[in-house]
Amino acid sequence: MDTLAGSAEQFVDHLVDFVCAMTQPFGQDSLKGLGIGVPGIISAAGEILESPNLRFLDRFNLQKTLAERMNMPVRIVNDVNAIAWGEALHGAGRDLQSILVVALGTGVGGGLVLDRRLWLGADGVAGEIGHVPVEPNGRACNCGARGCLEQYASATGIVKSIVERRKAGTPGSLDTVAAENLTTHEIAAAARAGDNQARAAFAEAGERLGQVVAGAVNLLNPDGVVITGGVSASFDLMEGAVRKELEDRCFERSLNKLQLRCGELGDKAGILGAALLSSND
Ligand SMILES: [Zn+2]
Repeated sequence: MDTLAGSAEQFVDHLVDFVCAMTQPFGQDSLKGLGIGVPGIISAAGEILESPNLRFLDRFNLQKTLAERMNMPVRIVNDVNAIAWGEALHGAGRDLQSILVVALGTGVGGGLVLDRRLWLGADGVAGEIGHVPVEPNGRACNCGARGCLEQYASATGIVKSIVERRKAGTPGSLDTVAAENLTTHEIAAAARAGDNQARAAFAEAGERLGQVVAGAVNLLNPDGVVITGGVSASFDLMEGAVRKELEDRCFERSLNKLQLRCGELGDKAGILGAALLSSND
């Protein structure tokens, strides 16, 4: 389904067609509700306040519109909140009470499950850990601020770290690859092959991530932190730096029970979480 262009109305038409086609073999009655994870800032009422990759949905109440069209309960949540709920119930957090889920992808997203409840905040927008500042005058962020974690620990942030190191004159095995063609997959492969520039970029990402996670651990005393998203496949290259920050910055008591884990459900976490949230209340 092409979701990247068009209007909100066209998007809803596509979505309804898609859902009907998918459920058709099972009969319309087989569908009890719809849960959808959307990247962006989503209000508690299911309004998409802002979705940087789906701009035509800004200020659109997808939840209300889709519920009316489908005549069934619909729940629209932030995509990482859906992932967090999936991992909490059936993935890496299923034996834990309170977890922080951090999704490292193109950006950095977060979700909080506290006492087995998804914590959405006063208006649905809690958990935006990617926009916790780590450098007061650091790299400009898409949110309008500077120095957000996302600018250092996401896939794009790690690429920026390589580009900065190049400009500073640090040689690396990826120097022949144009900046716009660099991927974290390649950078991770270079790091594993012993490239110091690539290793340093991942270590920096881990250090910044560790600082923010340490702050969250001191604030919330969760029993788990779950790292997920595409970049988490290379979490081993960051883990040492993350653990060092946790040890340096957290109270010993907070770390005693803390489990630092990678997500278990991959892409299925968000699908499962959104579906479970749709039947939650
Ligand atoms: Zn930001």
